[in-house]
Amino acid sequence: MPRLVMKFGGTSVADLDRIRNAAAKVKREVDRGYDVAVVVSAMSGKTNELVGWVRETSLLYDAREYDAVVSSGENVTAGLMALTLQEMGVPARSWQGWQVPLRTNASHGAARIVEIETEGLIRKFGEGLHAVIAGFQGISPEGRITTLGRGGSDTSAVAFAAALEAERCDIYTDVDGVYTTDPRITRKARKLEKIAYEEMLELASLGAKVLQTRSVELAMRYKVKLQVLSSFSDVPGTIVCDEEEIMESRVVSGIAHSRDEAKVTVIGVPDRPGIAAALFGPLAEGGVNVDMIVQNISADGRTDMTFSCPVDEIPRARAAIEAAKASGALDFTGLDVDEDVSKVSIVGIGMRSQTGVAHRMFQALARDGVNIKVITTSEIKVSVLIDRKYLELAVQALHDAFELDKVS
Ligand code: ADP
Ligand code: ASP
Ligand code: MG
Repeated sequence: MPRLVMKFGGTSVADLDRIRNAAAKVKREVDRGYDVAVVVSAMSGKTNELVGWVRETSLLYDAREYDAVVSSGENVTAGLMALTLQEMGVPARSWQGWQVPLRTNASHGAARIVEIETEGLIRKFGEGLHAVIAGFQGISPEGRITTLGRGGSDTSAVAFAAALEAERCDIYTDVDGVYTTDPRITRKARKLEKIAYEEMLELASLGAKVLQTRSVELAMRYKVKLQVLSSFSDVPGTIVCDEEEIMESRVVSGIAHSRDEAKVTVIGVPDRPGIAAALFGPLAEGGVNVDMIVQNISADGRTDMTFSCPVDEIPRARAAIEAAKASGALDFTGLDVDEDVSKVSIVGIGMRSQTGVAHRMFQALARDGVNIKVITTSEIKVSVLIDRKYLELAVQALHDAFELDKVS
């Protein structure tokens, strides 16, 4: 029988009524003749609550216990979904990550999937039992519970779709597809019928949390046909697919944003070989995810280095930089930290063959008086760092400038 993976996010399983609503969608696919693997998230808000409890209990928490706690939200919804399906006459059982098993490495809190042993699931399909899998979780080589990073149920779903050679992986969420930008920011956001893997990958990694970045990477690598759709309506969603399958031609496909960024300038570092390594080495060792980097023009043999990182990593960044100074490995005269910046990015594979796209972006921002603090580009995206208070304005201005509300 053909197989289907159906993933339901937190808002889609937020209470028993919503679980029943999701289960009805599963039953419909079962009645169409699919063996279904349902992947569930925790009820909305639950993971945040669990993370909060861990942080309140222990400041420098043991990441293995963090995973033991925060993975538990998915156990509840998996069991409840299996029960609900049984009540509807659909034979089903729940599987926690370790029971499958879904094997990961030992990077607790952000583990990577190594392997999924599907024999047990497939044997149960053969007995007419559909699977309900707790998303977001796996088991480490040491036999400890791991989690896949926030939003990780998307990645569980795509990984199961690849491992089970499913016909499709449907990601049910609270929006009915992937939009030209976060529909919470502008009402003009338009739903896309299709989006290329590469564009979706950029959008996700630049902050569009509708899909976890790693899930798109896996879908692209294993050619999983991915659909994002609403669990609250019956309209078709957005298909994430190869660019050759997309007829619409556009330069910019979408705009992503990342609200909580920070900008750090290390002032007056000696302008000589090795200085970037002396700064970014300790930052990497300190677990700081450095994003954009700029080195200023030097004067009198000294220069300034600017970088951005998530705002909640600023304490770690400060500690790493100060420690490097104290040890004599890094010399500088001052540190300037701006914690009120956001990143806005335009993404589109059409940029590969079009010039002047960045210029249009900068013009649109200038027209609205938005000052750009840092710029980075790649083949299919341009990102800018701006004051956080202009975030919504910037997204709207760019959406208008590239006419994303119009079908091209
Ligand atoms: P789930 O709990 O189902 O995993 P998420 O909250 O993780 O749902 O992701 C869905 C949310 O992603 C939407 O509510 C929307 O605000 C946000 N989002 C950000 N960018 C986009 C985009 N380009 N298209 C659609 N949704 C987006
Ligand atoms: N429950 C987890 C989270 O909130 C995983 C997920 O929903 O994808 O991050
Ligand atoms: Mg999500």
